[in-house]
Amino acid sequence: MPEIQRRRAVTVNIGGIRVGSDSPVVVQSMTNTDTADVESSVQQIAALARAGSEMVRVTVNNDEAAKAVPAIVEELAKKGWSTPIIGDFHYNGHLLLRKYPETAKALAKYRINPGNVSIGRKDDDNFRTMVEVAVEHQKPVRIGVNWGSLDQALLTKMMDENSKSSTPLPARDVMMEAMVVSALDNAAAAERYGLRRDQIILSAKVSGVRDLIDVYTELAKRCDYALHLGLTEAGMGMKGVVASAAGLAPLLLSGIGDTIRVSLTPTPGGDRSEEVRCGQQILQSLGIRSFMPQVTSCPGCGRTTSTYFQELAERIQGYLVASMSEWKKQYPGVEELKLAVMGCIVNGPGESKHANIGISLPGTFEEPKAPVYVDGKLFTTLKGDRIVEEFQVILDEYVEKRYGRVLIEV
Ligand code: SF4
Repeated sequence: MPEIQRRRAVTVNIGGIRVGSDSPVVVQSMTNTDTADVESSVQQIAALARAGSEMVRVTVNNDEAAKAVPAIVEELAKKGWSTPIIGDFHYNGHLLLRKYPETAKALAKYRINPGNVSIGRKDDDNFRTMVEVAVEHQKPVRIGVNWGSLDQALLTKMMDENSKSSTPLPARDVMMEAMVVSALDNAAAAERYGLRRDQIILSAKVSGVRDLIDVYTELAKRCDYALHLGLTEAGMGMKGVVASAAGLAPLLLSGIGDTIRVSLTPTPGGDRSEEVRCGQQILQSLGIRSFMPQVTSCPGCGRTTSTYFQELAERIQGYLVASMSEWKKQYPGVEELKLAVMGCIVNGPGESKHANIGISLPGTFEEPKAPVYVDGKLFTTLKGDRIVEEFQVILDEYVEKRYGRVLIEV
């Protein structure tokens, strides 16, 4: 696969994780617990980290939340998690960061929303205060512009200027430009107030796919700050997953984006870690990073009229997911394994040969046997009721042989 030329960006160190340029594109997520509830927050952060979130953001919206942050970081450390915790501030971040220095110290990064930090003021004292705290504690910040809370004074000024122009732009274009200008102006201000360029990450989040692509393409052209990507509200279920993939893919393929978050709305009681797995899958589908063995399975058709094929494919996928937590520790590189689980002879053998291991299950009117291919060659043909179990044994042996550590006797 051809290499993706990453956009050159100043590298930022966030709690030991490097972001920008050739550093791996980082997957991050955000909790939806009450930050003041230390136990629930720790549990959810650990679950997100276990799923692979490399940084986790928590909302810091009041005194109770701010007071809880050091305890959360401490509890996580006791459980063996050093995942950087990012504080998400709006409106009162300047007050909370000054009032709770232990919180300012415990956080690995502060997210500042320039659209609401200095609301109702003519100056940017609140923004400056947050930057000064970041400088004192040597913490990076993300200047996170969001179209739902874009600086209204800036937008109104730009709309007015546009209306007086002899060639006025559509309002949507002015809005996109205002997002870019807000991010860049505030980054310049942060530098004036003492932050280095390698302590600043920018984001300009919108909820429309085409808007996202346009705004980040423009932002990437006009600066070399590291960029955090994501739709601000991707939505629920399939809509959120598809919109996120559609928006992030063109940018990531152009080398734009140093960290990502997929902002899925969870179903009530749903698993928050879905957003982490979705972000990982986007990166892996694009060939940017590998997190999990990938299973190529065909959609099935009139040749697979029973649910037999779907059940077998599901069991094999389930086996992979269940095995991965152990495999990751024992078999470095196993996340690059490729499997094919195919429904019949039409594309089964061909697709299986492209995978490390492939199985071509019998179609409805085919003889009940399943050829298995290993590294492109026919390895064996399975028959009977124990096809999945026997396939799992072949898979285990392959993983051990290919990714197992070689023990050197001294
Ligand atoms: S591999 Fe066979 S079962 Fe699967 S979609 Fe193609 S023709 Fe249908």
